[in-house]
Amino acid sequence: MRTDFILKAIEAVNQAVLASEAELESLDREIGDGDHFINLKRGCAALLDMREELAALPADQVLQRMGMKLLSTIGGASGPLLATIFMTLAKHEKTETADTLPKIAAAFAASVEAVKQRGKAGLGEKTMLDTLIPVADTFSQLSNAGEPADAIYTAIQQAAEQGMRSTRDLIATKGRAAFLGERAIGHIDAGARSSQIIIHTIAELARKPL
Ligand code: ADP
Ligand code: MG
Repeated sequence: MRTDFILKAIEAVNQAVLASEAELESLDREIGDGDHFINLKRGCAALLDMREELAALPADQVLQRMGMKLLSTIGGASGPLLATIFMTLAKHEKTETADTLPKIAAAFAASVEAVKQRGKAGLGEKTMLDTLIPVADTFSQLSNAGEPADAIYTAIQQAAEQGMRSTRDLIATKGRAAFLGERAIGHIDAGARSSQIIIHTIAELARKPL
């Protein structure tokens, strides 16, 4: 991975998160405690503040510091889980630079696996994993099959969207929404939506030359 791409992604994701304030806030208010947007906004702001420091570092150290920063700033259930993604990407980047799509896909799949372990959750529990798992699977399959990059980005965006939408009809078995039982049905999970927004934004950025 490249440090300049990661820095651009931080800016783009920050903008996308800020633009989704009303929606993310209301999703977490409906079946959570309403703080998901604030948590993400705080995380994005902390990462933006680090830009100068990060710009001088190789990608593995950038990802590691981002993970540590998110762990200490986001809080909530989502903080440690999102931090886990970056720390796992960092570990992979350190042992083998993810400089091709199959390698980036493998690092992302390992990160999603680490989130599953950390959150003790899997597919169909109405969490961010309902977005992340289908994206990891699609990314690995298509990149290993040698599909063109643009087709992969489109498929990733579709998988994220479909996964996010799937949470609407689910009962939550993890996170705060699990306390609501059937009352959570009919509401999209806030973390699934924010993950989908973030993935959509990064895939869009990846289409453009740096
Ligand atoms: P909190 O739930 O502490 O208020 P946030 O509102 O920031 O934290 O994040 C809530 C999101 O975290 C949920 O919408 C869900 O997607 C995700 N989440 C919660 N628990 C888990 C878990 N065990 N595994 C995966 N994701 C989870
Ligand atoms: Mg919350």
